[in-house]
Amino acid sequence: MAGLFLLLSLLACFPSFSFVYAAAGLTQHFQTPINRDLYHSSTDLIEKIKSLVHRHPDKLTVETHKSGTEGYNADVMVVTYRQSGKQSDDRSKIRILLGFGQHSRELITPELALRIVSILSEEQFLPGMDHASLNGTLENLVIKLVPLENLNGRKLVEAGDLCERRNGRGVDLNRNWGVDWGRKEKNYDPVEEYPGTGPFSEPETQIMREIATSFNPHIWVNVHSGSAALFMPYDHKNSTPDGVASQRMRALTEELNKVHCHGRCKTGSGGASVGYLAHGTATDYMYDVVRVPMSFTFEIFAGDKTLNEDCFKMFNPVDQTTFESVLNQWCAILFALFKLGPHEIDVHSTNMENCFDQVDNQVYDHL
Ligand SMILES: [Zn+2]
Repeated sequence: MAGLFLLLSLLACFPSFSFVYAAAGLTQHFQTPINRDLYHSSTDLIEKIKSLVHRHPDKLTVETHKSGTEGYNADVMVVTYRQSGKQSDDRSKIRILLGFGQHSRELITPELALRIVSILSEEQFLPGMDHASLNGTLENLVIKLVPLENLNGRKLVEAGDLCERRNGRGVDLNRNWGVDWGRKEKNYDPVEEYPGTGPFSEPETQIMREIATSFNPHIWVNVHSGSAALFMPYDHKNSTPDGVASQRMRALTEELNKVHCHGRCKTGSGGASVGYLAHGTATDYMYDVVRVPMSFTFEIFAGDKTLNEDCFKMFNPVDQTTFESVLNQWCAILFALFKLGPHEIDVHSTNMENCFDQVDNQVYDHL
């Protein structure tokens, strides 16, 4: 009896150490706890980004979007970088939108957002990039970053649900968008991939759609982890779109792969490369509906897939060397995208539809 009491006390103290449960015969899986020396808490991460912005009001601004449905509320912080000029000048610049932390267990991606903001503020520097070339790359860009799209889900991970990827009420935010929403594959996981009660049922997705449609970006990147990949549309079918925009995305991802991934990142359509089709994803919506000519999903860290249920380790680097090298590598990739991407876009075109003029009309069939 005393032994059982001791065991229950241990369970209460260390809920993330599943080996204790395993010892009790309750489960087989070991779960590596979050490395708090490397990873910020969501509260610290948000505070750190806000104070960076406040120290550099000439270049950075921050705002928090709020939305809610049926008693479920979400806050989404957005950071905007403009080297010069006002919001009214945005129309004449190349606009880039980056989303991080859509899946809550992928803790490394908001850390990358923080690193990008630090570099944009020039408080941190990217190895191999000097001040002049950074400024040259950034002068005609407006960059919006959403460092932590799924804050409610992230709080669940921090409370010990290390495998949680959905939002605060069980919806996969990368299945909640309005392109091919709700279709299910044979291997569909009804828990992990629950797409919500309808497209855009979730406040987080509503906010992201509002940001995207009002900002009207030329480049979108949805940053995830679990693989090493530079994906382009589509996620819901195993092919890429037709047309000039698609050719440009392919050329760009192949160049980034060659220079920064040593050819080891997966490229091509997410649906063809990842091993399963995904329906209702953000990147497919950005491309098909918001008409973002360069829409990508980057997967920044491939953990060991054989680590059954050890989710922190499957989706995130656990040691400092790997943590730093992942952040450096993907900062280099994103800044290379900032540099190369605008060359692929006709800045003087008032109509981004030009990029799509050869797109097969069938892309609308499934909307
Ligand atoms: Zn993900």
